[in-house]
Amino acid sequence: MKILKFGGSSLKDTGSIRKIARIIAATREPKVVVFSAFSGVTDRLAGFLSECQKRGNENRIKRFVNKLKEEHFLLLKKSVPVRAKQQPAADALNNSFNRLERFLYGVSYVEEISPRSRDLILSFGERFAVAIMSAVLSYAGVKNRSFESDTIGMITDGDFGNATVLLPVATKNLRRLLLPLLKSGLTPLVTGFFGCDAESRTTTFGRGGSDYSASVIAYALNARQLEIWKDVDGFMSVSPEIVKQSRLLNVLSYDEAAELAYFGAEILHPRMVEPVMLKNIPIMIRNTFNPTGKGTVIAKDGYEIKGVVKSITYDRNIAVLKIHGAGVGYKLGALQEIVSRISRSGVNIKSVITSQTCINLFVAKDDLERAYQSLSASGGQIRVIEHLEKVKNIALIGIVGEGLIKTKGLAARVFQSVAEADVNVEMISAGASSVAYYFIVNDKDVTRAVRAIHQEFF
Ligand code: ASP
Ligand code: MG
Repeated sequence: MKILKFGGSSLKDTGSIRKIARIIAATREPKVVVFSAFSGVTDRLAGFLSECQKRGNENRIKRFVNKLKEEHFLLLKKSVPVRAKQQPAADALNNSFNRLERFLYGVSYVEEISPRSRDLILSFGERFAVAIMSAVLSYAGVKNRSFESDTIGMITDGDFGNATVLLPVATKNLRRLLLPLLKSGLTPLVTGFFGCDAESRTTTFGRGGSDYSASVIAYALNARQLEIWKDVDGFMSVSPEIVKQSRLLNVLSYDEAAELAYFGAEILHPRMVEPVMLKNIPIMIRNTFNPTGKGTVIAKDGYEIKGVVKSITYDRNIAVLKIHGAGVGYKLGALQEIVSRISRSGVNIKSVITSQTCINLFVAKDDLERAYQSLSASGGQIRVIEHLEKVKNIALIGIVGEGLIKTKGLAARVFQSVAEADVNVEMISAGASSVAYYFIVNDKDVTRAVRAIHQEFF
């Protein structure tokens, strides 16, 4: 059995919908298919949410919902040219759009949005997509049944916006529901991106979370493999936007893929590796628009040789909050207090590098100010902090490869090539993970540094 997942990058238009239907119809073995929203839909829902938290917005809400609805109906009609075959999807769409519209009125009326309502509203893109894909697949002769993933027992810890599935319960529920269907020859279609907490409240897994949904289902059903269908061939040795001669990576280990996903390579949801890794289920990255391509395989022993640089990644959306103070390195509980204040402000800390006199917290650029505020004056300054410093004009470069840390001379080659490109390295983190180095350079130097390292190793 296989799990297939199609993301927004493949769910674009009638042409791509047909390609997806062909890929699914050609997959002979039993399968569960996970869909995310159509391209751009979740972004639009998120964008509109921040605008509609004011009363008197009824007309704008109507216009927004109608536009989205027209687009989805157009896709349905073009992809399923027989009227009668559109009907079940049309009913599901009408129902979902009515609900969405009512929820948006609610947000506008109370003039605020809670994390819980945000998750519920953001989840609609997936509901629309699965309704349409169910009709498309029936039309293509694939017998299927569609499910919204907050009704199938995919129970989470209830952390809105960044939920984690409780694997033991979810496994039991998913097996009970899906295995009999698979046995009877039906293909279950499931919305990605969200599950629900123990009280049946919709909880999303964070942006791009459909990969994680698919991984959870693969884990629960002991799938033979998990296929993630995208609009690119797979992981590359470096972003082709920076280096034209960038190469496709045929194999990666789970750790390498996770490191690459966390920083830079926006190819997978960073936490999607966790569930399948527990059962050694391989992940295949495949290209909807080049289905015969090799893609990238991510597996336990996903490396031919250890100790080589596999991929170079970078993240420009990063900033550092420097916390200076003579005692930060040894004052008991200082780090804990700092981290919990920042977490309470809703900012995610991506990484930490500390010394005795300075703690460096890595956050997204947009979060820097909020992280800074949460530690400064308002709540009374934490005693050990002498002074806070915001560093913005930087980028993070990551060098990923299994066995890197144990390979003599490798770091020297990396930093030599960066130095020869006349780039200064401002901070280094090595050894924390056995498969990656990270370092910081000035924002304006990132392209030059990445090209120099790629040149050196490829
Ligand atoms: N549609 C959601 C998003 O755009 C989930 C996903 O794409 O996986 O974040
Ligand atoms: Mg997406």
